[in-house]
Amino acid sequence: MTLTVTILGATGSIGRSTVDLLAQHADRFRVGAVVGGRDAAALARVARETGAAFAALADGEAGPALAEALSGSGIPCGAGESAVLEAAARDADIVVAAISGAAGLRPTHAALRLGRTVALANKESLVCAGDAFMRDAKRCGARILPMDSEHDALAQALAGRSIDDVTTMMITASGGPFRTWPAERIAAASATEAAAHPTWSMGMKINIDSASLMNKGLELIEAHHLFAIEPARLGVIVHPQSIVHGMIYWCDGAVSAELAMPDMRVPISHCLGLGDRLTIARGRPLDLVAAGSLTFEAADEARFPCLALARAALSEGGAAPTVMNAANEIAVAAFIRGALTFYGIAALVERACTHFAGVHRVAPEDVDAALAIDAEVRAWSAAALPRMRATG
Ligand code: NDP
Ligand code: MG
Repeated sequence: MTLTVTILGATGSIGRSTVDLLAQHADRFRVGAVVGGRDAAALARVARETGAAFAALADGEAGPALAEALSGSGIPCGAGESAVLEAAARDADIVVAAISGAAGLRPTHAALRLGRTVALANKESLVCAGDAFMRDAKRCGARILPMDSEHDALAQALAGRSIDDVTTMMITASGGPFRTWPAERIAAASATEAAAHPTWSMGMKINIDSASLMNKGLELIEAHHLFAIEPARLGVIVHPQSIVHGMIYWCDGAVSAELAMPDMRVPISHCLGLGDRLTIARGRPLDLVAAGSLTFEAADEARFPCLALARAALSEGGAAPTVMNAANEIAVAAFIRGALTFYGIAALVERACTHFAGVHRVAPEDVDAALAIDAEVRAWSAAALPRMRATG
């Protein structure tokens, strides 16, 4: 049977890796809709390459450029939010949710509420509206397959056994490019230095989050929702080789781990396989002798305050993770364009979390409520930026 796969965020890092795998297994999959943000030429290329059934671009103004780039292909297309939601809701056996940031919430939810199988890379869906997403998935009979490598690893190590027997779920962090840097050097780091990830090849935003360890914080929140496990039983350990991705510590002292080379096509293929294993051409096999040693160290929350901020937001619950994510998106974008120092990211996030702690307490009831908080915090954070530059 051929499975239809829709790709939200088809032109991004996860999207392109997904396309690569689908092409390798063209006898098993066909591509439904492909969705992109702004780059009409890139989306048209992916649509043509995959023979997609529909292409949608979020940027409404780029609609004519997309239509032009697809002319003669016979592939129908649309632009703007309604076209993106239409793409997300089209019939599909698997929807890969790989839009970056809070922009992924609505399209991901549109697929989920139709009871689709959603391979979830867009961790922001769970960070911003985890309660609503998990509740609606259950209510609508949707299946969420974790595509983030750590969570895919945890799911594999858990292997369907009871969460009651789990003492701790541990996710690994590479430590990012600043793992060994002193705080003074990190303070002066440029966006290019922060984006130079030592082991993974990813999009810009997640690269910066990996350098600040905010990505691990987001992943703790993601794990909390995916596995319905309380914050106290979740941990992070730094593992510079990025070969062990997640570990389950069992109540009898045993530990189950999942190992693989740092290649997102491994968790992607596990999701696309729906339990079966797919071969990956041009994959690098794990050679433990060549790796030599696997090392582990504690995460340093003093040099990487974003991890502590995310832990605090997770413990606090309610709207705190939604607020934190919005402030972080503004802060990271500002850092990338040189409007904030690296530690200015944590400083802005902390200010926003403190400011909104008494304003928004309860977890957003639905995606609209999450996006309303998101918009409010973004506006507040953007307005706070000029003051941060002097102090951050
Ligand atoms: P990229 O920045 O590489 O790609 C993002 C994709 O989303 C692009 O196709 C982009 O299109 C599209 N997009 C952006 N804005 C919108 C919008 N408003 N509406 C529709 N589409 C939009 O990101 P990554 O692939 O790195 O990451 C995607 C998600 O997966 C993130 O949530 C990330 O945290 C998560 N993830 C990524 C991993 C990785 O290895 N990269 C690992 C684990 C999780 P355009 O370029 O035209 O804007
Ligand atoms: Mg990850």
